[in-house]
Amino acid sequence: MCGILGLWSHDDVAERLIYGMATLQHRGQDAAGAVTFDGMFHVKKGEGLVSQVFAEKHLERLRGSAGLGHVRYATMGTTDEIDAQPQYVNYPYGLAMVHNGNVVNFSAVRDTLYTRYHRLVDTSNDVALLLYTFAAHLEQRDLADLSTDDLFECVRATQADVEGAYSVISIIANRGMLAFTDPHGIRPLSIAARGDGDVAIASESSSFDYLGYRMRGDLAPGEAVFVDADMTLHRDQGLRRERAFCVFEYIYFAREDSIVQGRLVADERVRMGQALARAVRDAGVTPDVVIDVPASGYFFASALAEALGVPYRRGLAKNAHVGRSFITATQKRRERLVRQKLNPIRNVVSGKRVAVVDDSIVRGTTSRHLVALLREAGAREVIMVSAAPPIRFPCIYGIDMSPHEELVAAHCDLERVRASLGADALVYQSLDALQELYRDLPCCYACFDGRYPTGHTRETLSELAREKDRSQRS
Ligand code: AMP
Repeated sequence: MCGILGLWSHDDVAERLIYGMATLQHRGQDAAGAVTFDGMFHVKKGEGLVSQVFAEKHLERLRGSAGLGHVRYATMGTTDEIDAQPQYVNYPYGLAMVHNGNVVNFSAVRDTLYTRYHRLVDTSNDVALLLYTFAAHLEQRDLADLSTDDLFECVRATQADVEGAYSVISIIANRGMLAFTDPHGIRPLSIAARGDGDVAIASESSSFDYLGYRMRGDLAPGEAVFVDADMTLHRDQGLRRERAFCVFEYIYFAREDSIVQGRLVADERVRMGQALARAVRDAGVTPDVVIDVPASGYFFASALAEALGVPYRRGLAKNAHVGRSFITATQKRRERLVRQKLNPIRNVVSGKRVAVVDDSIVRGTTSRHLVALLREAGAREVIMVSAAPPIRFPCIYGIDMSPHEELVAAHCDLERVRASLGADALVYQSLDALQELYRDLPCCYACFDGRYPTGHTRETLSELAREKDRSQRS
């Protein structure tokens, strides 16, 4: 998963861009990069957090009134600087691009680019596939007299060639800022404006709040928008298929203060927490207290407690200064990090039947350790509650959820997962209940039911797993 931000403005964007990227930091902490344009591209990218990559001197160097920013969570490719975004090409016109998502037919696109357009894809980052494909279509046009329709047709041709999940923002030097999404609209992308006509496009609206832009809405599946040099906004419905918005954005990824697809993420989590109450009752368990796994569990847990009529308390103290535990190399290190990160608040849990709510259970590492920690702190019973249904299939659209063999619910029934976590009871959100909440917003549930909107099969999944492995070793 990644976060992207594009600014097309009347005046210098560097400061807004860098601080705006920091508001998307939760979407990726592996690398950060920015490009601005003032007649030439100025680029700065590096490994780590926005605050580690950018210093005061870069604000001065990143001149120009147009810019793109990217925070990266590596799903394909390495975390090395060379793979960090933005990427750019000098022809045609000069194109810079950032994207969020994951291309799933990369071998086919890479081959087409080489055999038909004689372009070598020289990085393992799939934004290059989108950038080179778009550039290849653009160069077929009359470049001396390019129209906005030409651009939109090139977007459509790119969408036809490239499969997967992608939300893209691009600067076309001296001409404008272009953004588009994949035909299913899997990843979020929103647009906003400021009084004087400046336009911002970002993965999440929390960036707009911070930067003082007013939200103008989300891009529809397959939609393209183009802000031209006169700051006029053009919109076009590109290639569109059935909408399949990633429901995991609401469960885990998006920030709780963001409005995604017209819904405040915090409210969505409250609705999911309320729906969990039915699952808890059906499991025949009655907690004395409900606690959350900070920070993403808060709205689920407090809404669940309210619906059950039992107290909600903060039962785990979080050390916010420890790195993330999910994708660190070895299981042993992950376990140590979970222990460093969360510590039970003894009097809240001691002697009680504690329901502990997390957004999801992936490998089970976090839950297994929390159950043990809560027992050590004196909990009488531990009921593990997951706001997401069992995750049984890998995400191929950009959420790095571990390979199939590591997903604890992929191979075990409920009782075996419960036993492997060491919990007294285990309650998952039911997939039916979740889908009921989104009757009016068609979502992608592939990580729960294996139905991939791009129609991928087990063979493509194995190919993707191999490619991911290869790219991360390269
Ligand atoms: P696990 O410990 O492997 O079961 O993973 C579950 C924990 O990781 C939960 O606490 C989630 O909040 C968190 N989580 C779930 N999905 C992701 C993801 N794609 N990236 C990082 N953390 C995640």
